[in-house]
Amino acid sequence: MIFDAHCHYDDEKFDNDRETLLSSLPQKGVFAAVTNGTDLETSQKSIELSQKYDYIYAAVGIHPESTENIDITRIDEYIEKIADMLNQDKVVAIGETGLDYYWNIPKEQHIIFEKQLRLANDTKYPIIIHDREAHGDILSYLKKYQPFGLLHCYSGSVEMLKEIFRYGDMSISVGGVVTFKNARVIVDVVKELPMNKLLLETDAPYLTPVPFRKERCDSSYIKFTAQRIAEIKSVSVDDVLKYTKENALRFFDICP
Ligand SMILES: [Zn+2]
Repeated sequence: MIFDAHCHYDDEKFDNDRETLLSSLPQKGVFAAVTNGTDLETSQKSIELSQKYDYIYAAVGIHPESTENIDITRIDEYIEKIADMLNQDKVVAIGETGLDYYWNIPKEQHIIFEKQLRLANDTKYPIIIHDREAHGDILSYLKKYQPFGLLHCYSGSVEMLKEIFRYGDMSISVGGVVTFKNARVIVDVVKELPMNKLLLETDAPYLTPVPFRKERCDSSYIKFTAQRIAEIKSVSVDDVLKYTKENALRFFDICP
């Protein structure tokens, strides 16, 4: 029943046992997972994983943390390569991209993000957005481009949520952070969030839900996130898994 809308199975933390792990996930209830690239190389790796495993789909894009490795004078070539990748089977979105003000990232991250927003609007593919301490500017871009997309690992407020839904056709994905003991804002966000706008994610290998925070995350851990969301929204875990799966299938335009 699990649909993991955002993970990174190309990550080196999976190098030792990727094949064993990925082969085992469907037996652990994982129905589908969208593995995200962060640059050209990892986007290509994501495509390869989607070709190898039936339940894996790929998103291709350039993450703000990759800004330093991009020759910005050649950005149009990079974007063209991302656009080419969209033509591959099982590539379902552009991402991961966005803005990150937590790390000291060169301002060119804005150019890279904006080019992918335009690409998303031109190609009608959904865009998967990373927003780390950049809420104000993310909202400005949403207002300007009105994209069809997903704010992944949402970290904004309830007030921001209301603004987001005014700009474009946005959904929100929630990960393990909602299970953390100090989680407050995200709990309020989940309470307010309409069920048809909610997707589940892991951001694997990171952000493993409680009670396994120290372990490496994979899509099967979503059941703990779903349990917490079920408590917050006073619905059953099965309903959370069922609705988020249906939302994700619709969002990524996947016909199972
Ligand atoms: Zn991610």
